[in-house]
Amino acid sequence: MEQKSTVVIKLGTSVLTAGTKRLNKPRMIELVRQCVELKRAGHQVIIVSSGAVAAGRDVLNTEIGHSLAEKQMLAAVGQGQLIHLWQSLFAIYDLPVAQMLLTRADLEHRERYLTARDMLLQLLSHEVIPIINENDAVATTEIKVGDNDNLSAYVAILANADKLLLLTDQHGLFTQDPRNNPNAQLIDKVERVNDELRALAGDSGTALGTGGMSTKLQAADIAQRAGVDVIIAKGSEDNILNRVLSHTAKSTTFVRFEAPIGGRKRWLLSGPKSTGRVVCDDGAIEAICNRGASLLAKGVIAVEGRFQRGDLVQIVTQAGLIIAQGLCNLDDPALQLAKGCHSRELEDVLGYACSSEIIHRDNLVILASV
Ligand code: GLU
Repeated sequence: MEQKSTVVIKLGTSVLTAGTKRLNKPRMIELVRQCVELKRAGHQVIIVSSGAVAAGRDVLNTEIGHSLAEKQMLAAVGQGQLIHLWQSLFAIYDLPVAQMLLTRADLEHRERYLTARDMLLQLLSHEVIPIINENDAVATTEIKVGDNDNLSAYVAILANADKLLLLTDQHGLFTQDPRNNPNAQLIDKVERVNDELRALAGDSGTALGTGGMSTKLQAADIAQRAGVDVIIAKGSEDNILNRVLSHTAKSTTFVRFEAPIGGRKRWLLSGPKSTGRVVCDDGAIEAICNRGASLLAKGVIAVEGRFQRGDLVQIVTQAGLIIAQGLCNLDDPALQLAKGCHSRELEDVLGYACSSEIIHRDNLVILASV
């Protein structure tokens, strides 16, 4: 096994139920055994566990769960079952676990984000295994992450993890749908998530692998930018955790970006939701993406949505591609006035002094390459 690291392991419902309708205890105990092995080898382990809704459905012996309200109710019933099961399985090895239920709202505000981060690190320092899920029972559409692939990427960023393992029912990302294409080939390494890969993964899961391949790509894209290696592998394979870490498993690895990014930028990747967009000219886009520049008013062509000073806004090309996001130094009415102006004209246009950077490069993260 390689050097000690912090590993986030995302276990999807299909892995935990072994493709059935209920949590599969033999499967879960096998995964616990493997996690304990990693712990004993000195790695820190964080689990992001789905399965609350499936467990709730099983307890109530029902087929319901299509509406948000029904899913919330099932998750409230099932989450207790789920954590109880994890707790009793890890207790066999004398390892304590902790439940952490998060929503997007917990990550959005920097202070709440830092509180969640400190708690997570506290648990690790006490050799507790955090078992994280979305707080589905209260997560309304506005505040939820929505899927545990993206949630696990945020958790990996929060914990400053080295690796994120997305365990699913496929070996990884294939060149074609492996279920009906014998020639489909496993893509073993991805440097960058691009449109070609997104098209391959499809929206609905009809194209490739499981239904979740597109959310896995979103998760991998965010996490690799934050300096986390992301590996998709098949949860039912023998000794999969150990084999992923020793690079001997069939899998797809999304290689972490080289340039490390600081804590504030990591939060910008995972935390706040943007409410506005600024459309920029090609010169500004090129300078931001390739030369690490700040956004100046001159490069802004149009302003969309409502936002306050200090809110997160997206930077988009004229073709609508989101290339970055960052904290804006002006609210939207002020930016409407300032757009296209040279920095030296800003004070006259706005009626007050304003820094020449509309979005400073220290408060900005790149989301796509041009
Ligand atoms: N949080 C959901 C559950 O525990 C699962 C969401 C997902 O699998 O993406 O049932």
